[in-house]
Formats: sequence, structure tokens, C-alpha cells
Amino acid sequence: MHVCAMSRRNIPGLTWSVISRLSGVNRLGRRHDFKRELCTQEPQDLKQLFMRHLTSRIKANGPLSVAEYMKEVLINPVTGYYINNEVFGQSGDYITSPEINQMFGELIGVWCIHEWQQMGKPEKLQIVELGPGKGTLAADMMRVFSQFKEFNKAVSLHLVEVSPTMRQRQSEALTGVTTLEDTTVDNLTQKTKYGPEVHWHRFLEQVPNECSCFIAHEFFDVLPIYKFQKKDGEWHEILVDIKEGGALRFIMSRGATTNSKAFLTHISDSDERDHVEVSPESGTVIQKMSERIRDQGGRALIIDYGHDGTKTDTFRGFKDHKLYDPLENPGSADLTADVDFSYLKRCCGEDVKTFGPVTQNNFLNGMGIGVRLQVLMQNADDNTRKVLMESVRRLMHPREMGEAFKFLAIAPKDTGYVPPGFSPITCHNEQKSK
Ligand code: SAH
Repeated sequence: MHVCAMSRRNIPGLTWSVISRLSGVNRLGRRHDFKRELCTQEPQDLKQLFMRHLTSRIKANGPLSVAEYMKEVLINPVTGYYINNEVFGQSGDYITSPEINQMFGELIGVWCIHEWQQMGKPEKLQIVELGPGKGTLAADMMRVFSQFKEFNKAVSLHLVEVSPTMRQRQSEALTGVTTLEDTTVDNLTQKTKYGPEVHWHRFLEQVPNECSCFIAHEFFDVLPIYKFQKKDGEWHEILVDIKEGGALRFIMSRGATTNSKAFLTHISDSDERDHVEVSPESGTVIQKMSERIRDQGGRALIIDYGHDGTKTDTFRGFKDHKLYDPLENPGSADLTADVDFSYLKRCCGEDVKTFGPVTQNNFLNGMGIGVRLQVLMQNADDNTRKVLMESVRRLMHPREMGEAFKFLAIAPKDTGYVPPGFSPITCHNEQKSK
């Protein structure tokens, strides 16, 4: 779908012509000169204009749901963090050492090849990555694929990405070409330096209906969530409002809202939490993946920070690797919430089989990270060895990413084995979750 239509979906009441006037950016993201007669004041900083847009939206239509606020902040076509942010890459955790990042990507690639063999080596397999960021994971997987001729011949890569800026980065990582492409167009296709083609899509629905292996690394945690709080036995919604002085604040709705009535049906009366976060959009995405796996075969591998329907308030902002008030300077920090894997599993339905979630420590151990590390260490000098050990510690240690990061797999219902990485492993020194 064209960006124009996307803007109408995501920001009701703010059309491209208004955005364009406010920001001096046209719908292809290119700057144009301000027309004097349209400006009653001196042009301001884009972030200030965005804040003004949020404020007038709240003044006109009342407080925003947290989900609406997240969408605005992250994927508003002009000011959204993922659309506009040139320093992107500071958040996200695919950032240990280059060697270890690469090893991680290769292990995911090996997992896909293994599953393709288990499926009986279908002639065509789509690797579909959702939210590929800088495209490093995709490139690391493709490098592994290129060493397996038969597999490489079967593979095509499909990236589901909303941001033209990120598409540009992905294109550079996969083709090695840095010339500027018009990354806003539909059906953008390029040839990767590894052989297979790469195609970009705005929505999962646009990916052809063929046997696919879906990969989502830190994708679900940026999808919009609604927040609800229980008071005197009744669920209220947490909303984003303006406080005196013009800054943003959270408020609690007076009573139930349409959202609290619609999105809490899976919460049982015995659930002891008085605060829950729900991401219906995540539910819809995983449901669509599951339907495709049911109908065309394939697999999905979902990797994210998450919990089993036990956590409460996890919504937070990140800027320069540090926690950041999610309501401050909207558009300048990443927003994220831990993924509720029990909710995702429920949304998969009865027609597919799910495995996990297992911890990252469990998955990577099962995939033989130890053996790979040994090989890397053998060829490294002392300093590199230290860096490698530190990176692996970060990936694997329960108090770092080893336990908070989880892996969930989806496969067709008749799958008669446990995919690699998903058999439970207990280490003698593994700590129990808090
Ligand atoms: N997978 C990468 C990047 C994660 S950041 C990593 O692990 O480091 C989230 C990614 O999803 C970015 O590429 C962002 O541009 C994209 N994204 C965010 N919301 C999206 C949406 N609604 N549809 C498609 N892509 C989205």
C-alpha cells in the first residue's frame, strides 16, 4: 500500500497535505520549501510540530489510548521514531560484538535450513522477516544460505517493513549498493549479493501466499499495546492526556472504555494482576502467520523480550541504550513493551502446533552455540577472545539477555518432532526466574 494510504490509516484527521505543510516534507520524505502564505509563525523544529499535532488531537478528540500514542510516536509517516530517526540502531539488542551478532544470525539461518529439510525440501521457500531493522540478521542468514546451494536456489527473501529509511539500510546490507533507491514504492524488489531476490512489503498480507519461514526478532515488542488498570474490581483504561503546562501525562479513564470491554476477554477472574497490557495488533499478526502455516506449511520463529502473561507494567522508552520517559519528547525515543507470549500462543489457534517459549539460553545451547564459540576462540587473539566471551555472556547469562529473551516456534499441526533449540535444557548453574 502506498504511504499516502498508510498515513490515513495511522493518523486520522491529519492528511498528507497538512503534514506536508507542517513539516516541509512531502510524501516521499523529501523536503520542499515552506510556502510563506501557509505559515503564520516561523517554522519550528519537527519534534515541536509533532507535539503540537498530538496536543491538538487530544484537545479535539480527548485522551489517546496508549496504542494510538505508540503508533503516532513510532510510525507517524513524517516524525515517527522508525521513519525519521537517523540515529536508529542505538536501541535494539542485536548489538553485542560483530562476531557474536553474526554467529547469532547464522544459527537462526541454520535453524531455517534444518526445518526446510524436515519439511521435505520444498522447491520454494520464502524467508519472511518482520521488522528487519538494519538488515543485519537477514544478511547473516543469507550468508549461511549461500553456502547451501540447493537451499539457496529454493529461497526468496521477503521483508515486512514500514519505514522507507530502514528499507534503505536493509537494501544496503543485502545488496552492498549504497545508491539511493525510492524505498517508498510498493513491490520494491532487488537482487541480493547472496543470489536470491529480496522483496519489500508494508503489510504481512502483501507477502505471496507460499510456504514461508517467518522470522520476527524484536518486532512484536514495538507493536501498539493498550494498558488497563483494575480499581475497585473494575477495569479502567490508561490513557495519554495533557497536563497543565502542556506536557503529556497518563490518566485513568473514569469507567470502562470500548477498549477495556473489547480487549480483556482473555483475562480470567482468577488473574491476580491489577494492571495488564494487551496488543491486539500482535494477536492479529500471529493469527495470520498461523493461518498461512496451516494452509501453505512453513514455520515461524519469534524472538523477543517477554513473559507468560504474568507481567504488569512493562511499557517504557529507550534512548541511547538508557531508559527514557515514554511521554517525554515524543518521537525521539524508542517505545517498547514486553511481549505476552501466552497471549500470542492463544492467538495462534488450534490448527497449528507451538513450541516454547524457551529462553534464549536454552535455544542457543540447543543450537550448539558452545561448539561454534570454540571454533571462533581457536582462531582469535587474546583481546578478541575477551570480547567474544563478554558478548556470549551478554547473550546467555540469565541476568542479561539469556532468560528475558524468549523464542517461540510455530509449525503445522502434524509436526511430529521438536524443532532444534526447543527441547528443554537444564544447566547445573542455571538460575531460576525471579
Ligand atoms: N529486528 C531488528 C529491529 C527491531 S526494531 C532488531 O532486532 O534489531 C523494529 C523494526 O520494525 C524496525 O525495522 C521498524 O522500522 C519496524 N516496524 C515497526 N513497526 C512496524 C510495523 N507496524 N510494520 C512493519 N514494520 C514495523
